[in-house]
Amino acid sequence: MRVGRSVEGRPIEGYIRGKRGRPTILVFGGFHGDEPKSVFLARRLIELLTTDPSAASNVRWVVLPVVNPDGYERRKRRNANQVDINRNFPTRNWARTSRRSRMFGGTEPASEPETDTVIKAVKRYRPVRIVTVHSIDGHRQCNNYDGPGEAVAAAMSHVNGYPVTYSMGYGTPGSFGTWAGLERNIPTITLELPSHHSPKLCWEDNRPALLACAEVL
Ligand SMILES: [Zn+2]
Repeated sequence: MRVGRSVEGRPIEGYIRGKRGRPTILVFGGFHGDEPKSVFLARRLIELLTTDPSAASNVRWVVLPVVNPDGYERRKRRNANQVDINRNFPTRNWARTSRRSRMFGGTEPASEPETDTVIKAVKRYRPVRIVTVHSIDGHRQCNNYDGPGEAVAAAMSHVNGYPVTYSMGYGTPGSFGTWAGLERNIPTITLELPSHHSPKLCWEDNRPALLACAEVL
């Protein structure tokens, strides 16, 4: 189903799987268009929950595999307005930055339709936890958490072997983790996949890690 549209009018799709009326886990991929492994992982999760509904455990899953479809189309980090969606959230620490910066946060908080779509999804589905998937180089893969997400991050770490890291909210003004985790108290995991691993290996390592999120409910 279409849950929003990008700057250039591309649909932003959402998929609901699992058990109706149960607590919701919200999963996002493709915040950054140059991190296609995050999209691959989110799509594989949708496929798994579709073909094997028993994998859903006793929760409802809502998955938006491509938050930034214009960036994804070009394999660029930012959206069509050159905004880093992950710096455009209306947090207390949102900061005006140079348009030339690869982390440009927009002309004002929540200026972008992609950001607005994510905010509306969180408000509509009221998730008890959120996993937002990214990828990172330099062997810095991790289960990063914002807000009360340590137990979830630890459960994922037990399965995927990535370290648990905690963001103090410094250095990432306007980030989704700050908005959802620190300011709304929703356990929020930023799953940073190792960019040197193949998509297939990322899925093999993280399929059980994603499902572990439902086990610790
Ligand atoms: Zn990213």
